[in-house]
Amino acid sequence: MINFNEPPFLGMELGYIQHAINNKKICGDGEFTKRCNAWLEDRFDSQKALLTTSGTAALEMAALMCEIKPGDEVILPSYTFSSTATAFVLAGARLVFVDIRPDTMNVDECAIEAAITGKTKVIVVVHYAGVACEMDAITAMASKYDLLVVEDAAQGVMSAYKGRPLGTIGDFGCYSFHETKNYSMGEGGALLIADEKHNEPAEVLREKGTNRSRFFRGQVDKYTWVDYGSSYLPSDLNAAFLWAQLERADDINEDRLASWNRYYRAFSDLAAREKLSLPVVPEGCVHNAHMFYLKCRGLEERTAFIAYLKERGVQSTFHYIPLHSAPAGRKFGRFAGKDVHTTVESERIVRLPMYYGLTVEDQARVIEAVQSFFASSSTRF
Ligand SMILES: *Cc1c(COP(=O)(O)O)cnc(C)c1O
Repeated sequence: MINFNEPPFLGMELGYIQHAINNKKICGDGEFTKRCNAWLEDRFDSQKALLTTSGTAALEMAALMCEIKPGDEVILPSYTFSSTATAFVLAGARLVFVDIRPDTMNVDECAIEAAITGKTKVIVVVHYAGVACEMDAITAMASKYDLLVVEDAAQGVMSAYKGRPLGTIGDFGCYSFHETKNYSMGEGGALLIADEKHNEPAEVLREKGTNRSRFFRGQVDKYTWVDYGSSYLPSDLNAAFLWAQLERADDINEDRLASWNRYYRAFSDLAAREKLSLPVVPEGCVHNAHMFYLKCRGLEERTAFIAYLKERGVQSTFHYIPLHSAPAGRKFGRFAGKDVHTTVESERIVRLPMYYGLTVEDQARVIEAVQSFFASSSTRF
């Protein structure tokens, strides 16, 4: 079976974990956590990056830092992972879902303005598949209505929009280093902060409501409980694992992009004949090959396609069930405007095997299976 995903493993991970053990420092904010934070800040030109226990934790921190009051609303796409939504529900917000664009599966920037009310506080964007949302239009809207922007850039590490790294464009950027993401520490993530006025509150939030980070910097002579908070800092063992990958981030990125481009070239003929649809990367977006998806004509064809690939030893998978139609989505939010694309497009999408180290031979088997399905599918659907 060709797996849909395999977590990245570069080889130096175990050595760095051993190093952390030798340091006698395996809790949070040790040497490797600091190295990872500094790397993220340097590479993405961010004034502050903090590793977290997950992408979800980074979203929770961002949501808490937005200082949502009861009744406040948050606008987000319905086509996303539950974490994008649940982080803001925990912070006390009502969710207002909007439609996506069919070309990128990202929030439709033109649907946002009509969803804004007097209670709107935050726009949350999700850079699906590591392809940027239309951030110029979105940040302009946010300034016009005095709203915060949170980027769920869980899939967007190493991607950019008009030269700006994803995660550094809004007020807060959230990365994920889950094993299914491009760079991994098993479970983990990072919060990127745009305005330095949020740095200390974020440190307090992450360190159980204490000013321990100030203490370690020698800015106070003892640390104490100063505000509400939680434990959002990962073990240095996990950071050591991640460090091995950040060090080789360009190798991972190039390997994934090569696979992505091979898929794209192999299927462009089928796309030209309108047998399937391919992902769109708009002008100005540099992506990170987080995902390779294609779209069938509808649900029935997709179900048959996934089964067909499975019979040929290829694992493929669909993606999000729109949140507004999920039980919790109905409970915590509403859909603003019309669901023109979200449900229809979510039923067409299929993700193919994509991971660091996918071999050319394995990928050729995937490509061959896809091509043979669509060679005969027109008569069946
Ligand atoms: C993976 C992902 C998350 C959650 O990240 P975790 O690290 O698994 O908590 C959130 N949003 C999106 C869009 C994701 O893809």
